[in-house]
Amino acid sequence: MHEFTPEVESLAQEILDYSLIRLKDNPPLDGPKSVEELFALVGNTITAGGLGGSAALSIFKDVLAPACISTDHPRYLAFIPSAPTEAANLFDLVVGASALYGGSWLEGAGAVFAENQALRWISDLAGLPESAGGVFVQGGTIGNLSALVTARNHARSLFSDVTRWVVACSGEAHSSIKAAADVMDIELLKVATDRDGIMQGAAAQSAIEAYESSHAGHRVFAIVATAGTTNLGIIDDLHGIADYANSRGIWFHVDGAYGLAALCSPDVKPKFDGVEKADSLIVDPHKWLFAPFDACALIYRNPSLAKRAHLQHAEYLDTLNDDGEWNPSDYAIQLTRRSRGLPLWFSLATHGTDAYAEAMNKTMAVARAAADLIKAHPRLELLVEPNLSIVAFTRPGWDAAAYQAWSDKLLADQIGFVTPSAHNGQPILRFAIVNPWTQVSDIEAILATL
Ligand SMILES: *Cc1c(COP(=O)(O)O)cnc(C)c1O
Repeated sequence: MHEFTPEVESLAQEILDYSLIRLKDNPPLDGPKSVEELFALVGNTITAGGLGGSAALSIFKDVLAPACISTDHPRYLAFIPSAPTEAANLFDLVVGASALYGGSWLEGAGAVFAENQALRWISDLAGLPESAGGVFVQGGTIGNLSALVTARNHARSLFSDVTRWVVACSGEAHSSIKAAADVMDIELLKVATDRDGIMQGAAAQSAIEAYESSHAGHRVFAIVATAGTTNLGIIDDLHGIADYANSRGIWFHVDGAYGLAALCSPDVKPKFDGVEKADSLIVDPHKWLFAPFDACALIYRNPSLAKRAHLQHAEYLDTLNDDGEWNPSDYAIQLTRRSRGLPLWFSLATHGTDAYAEAMNKTMAVARAAADLIKAHPRLELLVEPNLSIVAFTRPGWDAAAYQAWSDKLLADQIGFVTPSAHNGQPILRFAIVNPWTQVSDIEAILATL
């Protein structure tokens, strides 16, 4: 198994050929099958003697891969799609082939250096100080959790007599904040948003003060502002929330898993004014920064606070901990880590940052065109003017079941992948446009079915 034999050589060729075809040709949208259907097609693939590489690859190519929706298809507009650049995807092959260890400087200095330059680019765009730094983690969920663990650890050193820690966010915040609160066994305080879905600084202040005065011993240690909500692309009042948080010694975390990618466009960047005051922030390059799964950039204003919370100690690790070098493992909940920031780094190094601004502006322009098409559509209503690249709308008269039936048929007909969501208890549809391959004609094709 560990020898590079002539059989391996020919398998390598088959695998590279398949990978290049997948990259070069527009993939079909494809879609899921049931366990029973898949079992009927492939049976049990794990056998004592093995199937051989060619046969196993054929099973993947012919059956398993087509049972996975192509998240980079131009008419995949559900959830948040993915749209890696060719360079980023190609470099993922290199990362996979290279047995890089991305956890410590000792083992992965070159890789860590490159990842850190990519993090520096994001950090500089956000306006964080030179001393800021962080790590690429698996996704926004782990990024948010790691940041909040750091924040609570810091709060414990500042405030005594606290019986219950509390994190505040808006009702529009991502589900991962609730998940983090559950894991950490802390309270979640939901702050009411204004009519436009924005959490304002003043609302955060009055909600937190009312909560704390009626819950003796409870203390809010962090406020999570969302910079581009997943459902509608709403950006909270970053300045106002930061100023209140600072005045109370509360950690200010900005969840920009989707939205903060748009910092790379000078046209959009001003929407995020106030992000420079963040104690920590996240952005997922696997969403709107054109990198493959899975990568979340987690950046701290003061990384030493993160290291204090996350550094693992053991006899076998102290040789790493004592050398004073930058060890990415120390800044989140993780130890062993893939150098998952390298595909983004390689693509940035290849194309330069101007190309990112251009690609970003293209997706924003398609989102605006989609909003105009919806406004002109006889049976549709735009829910809100798109703030970033998410376009939310309704088809008045349809109930949730009608939306779901339409969505199922759209996929079954291989026209597009758009799933229903809800807003204020009402079913809605939304297009999340992050793929520069998505054209206005793709939007028209989907709207024609409504
Ligand atoms: C997607 C998303 C997350 C979670 O990120 P994952 O990478 O899916 O774990 C968190 N916050 C926001 C605003 C998101 O859009």
